[in-house]
Amino acid sequence: MSLEKTLVILKPSAVQRGLIGEITSRFERKGLRLAGMKMMQLTDEILNEHYAHLSEKPFFQRVKDSMMACPVIVCCYEGVDAIQIVRSMTGATNGRVAIPGTIRGDFSVSSQENIIHTSDSPKTALQEVKRFFKPEELFDYKQGNLPFLYYQDEYQLT
Ligand code: ADP
Repeated sequence: MSLEKTLVILKPSAVQRGLIGEITSRFERKGLRLAGMKMMQLTDEILNEHYAHLSEKPFFQRVKDSMMACPVIVCCYEGVDAIQIVRSMTGATNGRVAIPGTIRGDFSVSSQENIIHTSDSPKTALQEVKRFFKPEELFDYKQGNLPFLYYQDEYQLT
């Protein structure tokens, strides 16, 4: 089983709607380890890189504007299969079709103002964690509740 790191961004829609606690609480209760967390103002430069796959879309500029509307909260979570866990807790891109119980399904009615960004694969998670965090901003500490989160053969600490 792989212990993975994944990137989460609480978008301006989460910050402005007062959902920071609600969302971080979900990941905390699930049992993911918080490896890093900070507030930052995103820039055109970092968003051109982060959303490069959307550069030809008609909504590219407005998605970037929306991401720069106010500071965001950037988090790195870690756990066995953390990328897939966080992605399934996120829900579909469009909040109107995201399944209730997911973060977007519970808090968004929009395909743009959809509360949260989460890495969608091991490859992008690796790139995104590196893009948003310096090595010294990520903390490696043991979760005290580990024996109550996993059976011992389910995880391997490096
Ligand atoms: P996801 O965030 O679910 O991984 P994408 O990588 O496809 O989805 O898109 C990145 C972000 O761009 C979305 O989270 C959303 O904010 C915005 N976006 C995607 N599709 C649309 C759309 N059709 N209209 C407006 N904004 C969109």
